Amino acid sequence: MDENNGHDDVLVIGAGMAGIEASLRLAQAGRHVHLVEERPCFGGSVIRFEDIYPNMDCATCMIAPLQQDLLQNASIDLLTLSRVEKVSGNAGKFKVRVKKKASYVSAETCIGCGMCFEACPVSLDNDFEEGMAQRKAIYVPAAGALPNVPSIDTDNCLRFKGEECNACIEACMFEAIVMDDKDQVLDLDVEAILVATGYGLMDLKPMKRFGYGKVPDVYSSVEFERLYASNGPTEGELKLRSGDAPSSVAVVQCVGREETGYCSAVGCLNSLKFAHYVNHKLPDAEMHVLHTDMCVPGKTHQRFRDKMVEHGADLVFATDVKVEKGSPGVKIAYKDGAGKAAKLKVDMVVLAPAFVPSEGSKELADILGVPLDGTGFFAQGGNGGGPVSTAKEGIYVAGCATGPKGISQVVMEADMAVAAILTGTDGGVS
Ligand code: SF4
Ligand code: SF4
Repeated sequence: MDENNGHDDVLVIGAGMAGIEASLRLAQAGRHVHLVEERPCFGGSVIRFEDIYPNMDCATCMIAPLQQDLLQNASIDLLTLSRVEKVSGNAGKFKVRVKKKASYVSAETCIGCGMCFEACPVSLDNDFEEGMAQRKAIYVPAAGALPNVPSIDTDNCLRFKGEECNACIEACMFEAIVMDDKDQVLDLDVEAILVATGYGLMDLKPMKRFGYGKVPDVYSSVEFERLYASNGPTEGELKLRSGDAPSSVAVVQCVGREETGYCSAVGCLNSLKFAHYVNHKLPDAEMHVLHTDMCVPGKTHQRFRDKMVEHGADLVFATDVKVEKGSPGVKIAYKDGAGKAAKLKVDMVVLAPAFVPSEGSKELADILGVPLDGTGFFAQGGNGGGPVSTAKEGIYVAGCATGPKGISQVVMEADMAVAAILTGTDGGVS
């Protein structure tokens, strides 16, 4: 335990954009940060993107320097494969129990050479790539994921199924594989807690009218991001499952909005970004964006929309959208702005699902003793406090944990939360 009994320590839950930004700022201000992340790598949703709207800045160029700072910062304990199990106490003196799962690879000796992946005989769908690529039972989720230290997926490793296999151990020249690694329980004393657990996306499969999982060339927005990504399964080539390039693409935005009952705030801009992706990689392809509302707040975003229209994006008002298999291609039936039945036939459909609370939000809220709002996101502004406060003093929230928003707002909220933690205030405007 620290000599100061955790007086200057802060727990940050979630190592996406908000968690990384807040951790670095807190460390800069002299705080010791315990950054807890359930996944084997950090960077959140942004590490799956190639570009960020509206200027199409390179996402990796934005996040990679922050990731490196995080790895090199001695004031930040980066706890991947970890989750918060128990919290007690009050502001200024919380006691937190964190469970860190064994990775079976030593971060001290592993150099990230990848020889163990090549040797592993088990191949399975890589969920980071939405099943469009394979990974091994010992793996890092994607090229460039940090930390560049693999972990063993014990559900699929042959040894953990009772079979004999030493392939990864024999392949590793650095003796970095530690088959007797154990889960650890860490008891931390912290003065404040920041929830930065991000968002999830609505499950498309139950919404059968959109054909996802049934019609071959219907993709989710994450799949499309990964197809466009230079470190993705096609190394950035936009292509159909047949391997051919599509000559026409339709993005259906706000999928699931009726079910959630709220706007996902960034869906329109994301769809315009996809129009840019098509225009950039396939300049001769037709590009349609089906929407019920095209909300592009601010001059910069309006210019981005206008530029996409100039480059040929066809913005189509469409309700009651139904997606079916064509022969060939994909058929879309919808009602236009006058309520008349209309049809479109394209090679590829991209569904942009609504943002939903991240998995495990309810469980974490119960552990922390803070409420969720009526939509299942963390409730903000408790006790009449500011937007980064919760109902419990000393527990703060930032980024998409409270609802959908763009990256600039996520970063701004992380900075507000840091200011509130450093000053011991509620983060509101006095
Ligand atoms: S565990 Fe060994 S073989 Fe695998 S990446 Fe690390 S150093 Fe390379
Ligand atoms: S023990 Fe075998 S199956 Fe398990 S991770 Fe290593 S190489 Fe893969």
